[in-house]
Amino acid sequence: MRHSARSAAVMDQTIPLSEAPHDECGIFGIYGRGEEVARIAYFGLFALQHRGQESAGIAVADGKHIRVHKDIGLVTQVFDEDALNHLKGGHIAIGHTRYSTTGSNVARNVQPLSCLSSVGEIAVAHNGNLVNTLAHRTMLERQGVEFTTSNDSEVIVQLLAHLCKGSIEDAVIEAMKRLQGAYSLVILTKDKLIAVRDPYGVRPLCIGRINGNRYVFASETCALNVVGAKFVREVMPGEMVVIDDEGMHEVQAVPTARHATCLFEFIYFARPDSQMYNKNLHAARRRMGHELAKEHPCPGAHVVVPIPDSATPAALGFAEASRIPYGEGVVKNRYIQRTFIQPDQRMRDLGARMKYEPLKEVIAGKRVVMVDDSIVRGTTTGKLVRMFFDAGAIEVHVRISAPPVRYPCFYGIDMANQDELIAAHHTVEEIREKIGATSLGFLSLSGVVRAVGVHTDKFCRACFDGKYPIAVPRDVKLTKFSLENLPAIEEREREVVGV
Ligand code: SF4
Repeated sequence: MRHSARSAAVMDQTIPLSEAPHDECGIFGIYGRGEEVARIAYFGLFALQHRGQESAGIAVADGKHIRVHKDIGLVTQVFDEDALNHLKGGHIAIGHTRYSTTGSNVARNVQPLSCLSSVGEIAVAHNGNLVNTLAHRTMLERQGVEFTTSNDSEVIVQLLAHLCKGSIEDAVIEAMKRLQGAYSLVILTKDKLIAVRDPYGVRPLCIGRINGNRYVFASETCALNVVGAKFVREVMPGEMVVIDDEGMHEVQAVPTARHATCLFEFIYFARPDSQMYNKNLHAARRRMGHELAKEHPCPGAHVVVPIPDSATPAALGFAEASRIPYGEGVVKNRYIQRTFIQPDQRMRDLGARMKYEPLKEVIAGKRVVMVDDSIVRGTTTGKLVRMFFDAGAIEVHVRISAPPVRYPCFYGIDMANQDELIAAHHTVEEIREKIGATSLGFLSLSGVVRAVGVHTDKFCRACFDGKYPIAVPRDVKLTKFSLENLPAIEEREREVVGV
């Protein structure tokens, strides 16, 4: 592995520049004889960079061995020509971009993770978050497995190796019966590529085809387009899809209770040029703006301004439905990374100014509708409102294209603990007062679902309504670093259930 110039110790001190919830992980897989699979995986990961900006990695198989290159950093920082040349050859590859929710951002936690099994080496890239990690880790440690990471994904690869007595497919199906939580996976052996999605389909995963017997898996369809693959379909909840020299084999590995795809993917996380449930996300977000304008109109406002880039479609929709002019009143620095070393409040404030700069020409002397896609802690929204007033706005009406976030996510989104969620403890009027806005309106859950155009039962909406589709054990409600500094196995076994 190539080590980044930035040390792990420095990386651990970073504080998110924005309070926006973070997705954590994009995954990609390619099976393609005659293709330069590592380079295609690199392009795929580049398209999925928004899903994880802390680290990246690619594993390549050539029928005999698996080679891995991974490190902390953006895709373009981790992979240069030397790294891609080192991965040349082979006909199968998987890749991963990571934002950490379970396990801190240190080199040993970077994916894909690999280990030895009875079918040779296997490597795994995971998007999601398990809710019974500790139980499996404890069971595997009892069997003598030594863990090297503080990452729930290592439990998956070690469990697969542990269960692999005959075929890898049987091991995957058995693992899917035991794993609980959110997981979309791409799994690499020396001669097979396997994709699976948990029985609720919390995190997205789709199948594409380049031509002939060349297949691609990706978290989002935007990564298919960039490698010239045609969308085939989504991997279904509970399904296992295997690609080998014989072609594609599909199996419903575990029954699905109900679909529960993350609603926040539609509001914010996924790229607007992706599609899920056959819906284009840019269009869905624009319709969220239409619904928002109906639910919380703002008569007399002069201009609708998005917080770029993620709220732009909703602001366009709000402007269309309300017939208030749309204006780009905030410039976003496109080159700033999501994390930034901010040792004190002054540096944090400077960091926020580095990210957004108001355009006084658009804002000054105006009644402004400021459209954003979420309020989590409320601190960033408050700073943005102040920035608008400082730029000369006479009124700032905040409109949010999502309902208030009242409950934490345990399925792979890092947003905050419940204590830190402003809407968990404050009414809308209290939030308005705290952020200093002239008025405040959140789009209702039914408004979001109407805008997407898919039945509400098809979604996980737990961070909005507290109804978790997959039960969350008590130990998971601790912190994302719960696999670090673990207590002794005996003590853990008293705490966990489920193996
Ligand atoms: S709790 Fe919220 S963020 Fe987490 S999976 Fe469900 S809808 Fe998505």
